[in-house]
Amino acid sequence: MTAEARLNRIVEDGLCIGCGLCEAIAGPDRVRMARAANGELRPEAREPLGDEIVASIYASCPGTHVSGLPPALARTAPHNDLVWGPHHRLVLAWAGDDEVRHRGSTGGVLTALGQYLLRSGRVAFLLQVKAGGAAPSHGVATFSGTEADVLAAAGSRYGPAAPLAALETALARGEPFALIAKPCDLSAVRARAREDARIDALVRYWLTPVCGGYMPDASLTAVLARHGIARADVAALRYRGFGCPGPTSIRLADGTVRELDYLDFWGEDEASWSLPFRCKICPDGNGEAADIAAADSWPGGAPSREAAPGDPGTNALIVRTAAGLELVEAAARDGALVLGDEVDVAFMSAVQPHQVKKKYAALARFQGLVEAGRLAPETRDLRLDALAAANGEDANRREREGARRRAARRT
Ligand SMILES: Cc1cc2nc3c(=O)[nH]c(=O)nc-3n(C[C@H](O)[C@H](O)[C@H](O)COP(=O)(O)OP(=O)(O)OC[C@H]3O[C@@H](n4cnc5c(N)ncnc54)[C@H](O)[C@@H]3O)c2cc1C
Ligand code: SF4
Ligand code: SF4
Repeated sequence: MTAEARLNRIVEDGLCIGCGLCEAIAGPDRVRMARAANGELRPEAREPLGDEIVASIYASCPGTHVSGLPPALARTAPHNDLVWGPHHRLVLAWAGDDEVRHRGSTGGVLTALGQYLLRSGRVAFLLQVKAGGAAPSHGVATFSGTEADVLAAAGSRYGPAAPLAALETALARGEPFALIAKPCDLSAVRARAREDARIDALVRYWLTPVCGGYMPDASLTAVLARHGIARADVAALRYRGFGCPGPTSIRLADGTVRELDYLDFWGEDEASWSLPFRCKICPDGNGEAADIAAADSWPGGAPSREAAPGDPGTNALIVRTAAGLELVEAAARDGALVLGDEVDVAFMSAVQPHQVKKKYAALARFQGLVEAGRLAPETRDLRLDALAAANGEDANRREREGARRRAARRT
């Protein structure tokens, strides 16, 4: 198989999440992220790659490799739960500034922490994602150097985004920075750190939303069509924020704004979520590679129509490292963050039931993929063997068979 075919295989086997890291590793002259026919962001080899470059991509691509917290950091955490991983503290929180809390996806914690990191001089800039890119529904990598920049990037982008295409540019600045990106993005950068010493020297804070997956581009077209909105008419799309979760707000080319309830956009429950294949088998939506992972805190994992309009938003934080703990405490002293009740792993499982299911099932699903002749991610520091043992043989067999069937259907 040629080097280019090996890169394509990650895409063909449904494991590419469109993060852009391969562009950063190979350089944009050799690999460029582009909008594929299905609307997703996918790498295109523009020049011969060579085996060495593709080996480097395979070692850190989140399609082929998923890493948890490096053991040296995990060892210092006082708690290490089978599902929720290493952590120092689980606590509710929201932004101290009302506008940040309002505009943020949940309680604006990631935005507040990003702003505090700049204000306190801990980092020179943030690499994160804001609206924009190849389509109004997409997200695009951005360097935030001011608190206003960070606020402008608030809100979850539930469409394709390739933040790591900008990783090389971020590292080349030679300044300390924070990375806010999805768990799979962070995991990929942790893996890349094993080959690139600049990462541990320059990436000072690793922040992430807990993540159940994004909406495939084709599914977005279908959802909009169900609500009588033609995709071609969409000029801007805000998925949530301005309340928790806030409406999905779609500005059309003629200036009209349409708003959809979060539950009408995503569907009433987990069964109706349309997700990329890689997200369906994700072993780490909990953001194990992060200093801090910020989650929603709705009982059962979804907002209620009745409570949503007045909900100002409360994040559940998984504080995984000593650096994360120091940051949360300093931001709370500063007033950037307000801390609420301490919570526990039972609370986390009750507000994130889909994450619990995926975590237990991950290893059996990967085995099913391998049995079907497909690639499956290698994992490190995620306790997947112990999770599979706890899952039980019957459940594992069902997951293996299900993954094998889906692999054959390529769904
Ligand atoms: C794709 C996706 C799926 C999610 N699924 C879940 C879930 O299953 N359960 C759950 O509890 N929470 C989920 N969230 C997280 C939730 O929506 C909130 O983002 C999280 O609670 C943080 O809220 P906040 O108010 O602190 O975020 P904000 O203060 O609004 O900050 C959000 C930050 O996330 C960054 N960001 C937004 N979109 C992306 C993206 N696509 N890729 C990389 N970075 C991005 C922004 O740059 C910003 O820094 C998901 C988020 C995303 C992006
Ligand atoms: S590095 Fe990212 S964009 Fe490249 S193949 Fe892997 S998942 Fe896809
Ligand atoms: S579910 Fe997993 S693979 Fe999908 S976007 Fe979230 S962290 Fe990445």
